[in-house]
Amino acid sequence: MVVRRRRKTSPLRPRGSVTGRPGASAPRSDHTPAVGPDSSVAPALGEVGRYAPVDTGGGVRPGHPLADERGNERLHAFEQGFRDRFSELVPVLREIHSLQHEKGFSERAQSLAERQLGIRLPEQVLEDAWINHLDTRRLYLEGSFRLFDRLVNEYWSGRDDLAAEAESAIAWFLDCDFHEVDISPCSDGRLLGLRRFILRLPDMAVRVKSYAGALFDIEEDVRHWTKRELLRFREGRPTTADVPSRYLKVAAYHYSSADPNHQGCTAHASCEREAADAALRQLRAFRQAVENTYCCGASVDTLLIGVDTDTDAIKVHVPDGETRMSLYRFVDSAALYRETQGMNEQDASLAVYRAIQDTVHQQGWGTGNGAPHEGMLRFISRLLMNNLSQLDYVARYHGGHYADVGHRERMIIVGQEVEEMQVRNFAYIAHLDTMEEGAESMDVGVNKVFRKLNVERGLPVPVVVHFRYDRKVPGSRERVEARCRRVRDEIMKRYRDLSEKGLIGCHMVIRDKRSGSQLEPLEA
Ligand SMILES: [Zn+2]
Repeated sequence: MVVRRRRKTSPLRPRGSVTGRPGASAPRSDHTPAVGPDSSVAPALGEVGRYAPVDTGGGVRPGHPLADERGNERLHAFEQGFRDRFSELVPVLREIHSLQHEKGFSERAQSLAERQLGIRLPEQVLEDAWINHLDTRRLYLEGSFRLFDRLVNEYWSGRDDLAAEAESAIAWFLDCDFHEVDISPCSDGRLLGLRRFILRLPDMAVRVKSYAGALFDIEEDVRHWTKRELLRFREGRPTTADVPSRYLKVAAYHYSSADPNHQGCTAHASCEREAADAALRQLRAFRQAVENTYCCGASVDTLLIGVDTDTDAIKVHVPDGETRMSLYRFVDSAALYRETQGMNEQDASLAVYRAIQDTVHQQGWGTGNGAPHEGMLRFISRLLMNNLSQLDYVARYHGGHYADVGHRERMIIVGQEVEEMQVRNFAYIAHLDTMEEGAESMDVGVNKVFRKLNVERGLPVPVVVHFRYDRKVPGSRERVEARCRRVRDEIMKRYRDLSEKGLIGCHMVIRDKRSGSQLEPLEA
């Protein structure tokens, strides 16, 4: 395998750029010394550095020495079970549709739904079928929502291991000097498996909140940072305030290696450079905000990760000794996988370590100022190793490359994350407290993704509005219920052209904030 150290030519166009301005400006990195006579022209992302990929296509086969095979089998059973349930919905509804003029239709339809999907459909819709026609849009919405409720509620049964798994992860984070790991990926459904599949981090140990284009809410994160500090100060959880551990904020942008100009991040017009740059700027702004508000920016670390949504490979942008990152300094796990797949376990682990060191000392574009702290290096190397397992998974079960390169989401989840829904491309996530602040994310989901995906075919857009309350706080449940209804009303109003035709429907669910609590659906 040939690994290119330096670009041979000066591409005028950043990879994935739609507009492709000639003479694109140099990266807004803090350390980008001039290289060569044409240093004003930035090389395309992915063309710099020892571990930049040479090609992004095949060459990845299953059986990597560092892959967690049993973990992969477990995840595959989970993913398959999940998809199978939902893939039955349309065939079952088709069959029900064809039965609508038969005798005993209602009972036959119910028993079919119960047998094939494990749910009951709304009686009234079936009963009313003789008046006009069967309202299949309603049935599609209701069927999706009931399957959703069922899968979420079943998720926790018999999974006592999840708490122990989270505890050991938190201990490991502390070992890396982090008392909190907070990740903001893009809302894109193809990143839905980020925590559980792509990075292999336990559900309950990591905070994940998604925003269109990974442009997370800085004010909200500063509030969360404050809350964590207060917990440390008052309760010594997970460390006392005098321990110099840090808050780690991770932003995850994404790109498509197979179709970079069309299947990248919708919020950034499929331009990888723009997506990465915007996320990096957001991370800097967050750090700055904490520093300006509390004079303690040093207690915040940031990390930028790029995800190739076609293969689940990641680019980890390694911070330097001054915690700064560059779009041009990263380790690409796909290249690492290919380079190490023929090695034994020990050599492969060493190669991961070497790859990080080489990136730290990379010259030319993206040169940094020294290495980050030891904990960060440990954290990055674990993330890369975890991701090698995921690449093995994609190689084994998806031929190294997902068949559904584009959007294939089945619903939009609005409000707060549903940690049980971590299957790639299953849902579009719009994290928000009010529609006012979340309108942008929601518009991308409805107008750019689901109008094409569902509405053009006459299928409605299922929207789950999900919020958590705190049962220890008086009145919390009532307030959260009211918020849930408010958001639902605003969605129906905002997309009136769809709601009037029954082409969008909301399902409201609330639940206690403890992990593992059951959903409480609200009556419309
Ligand atoms: Zn995106």
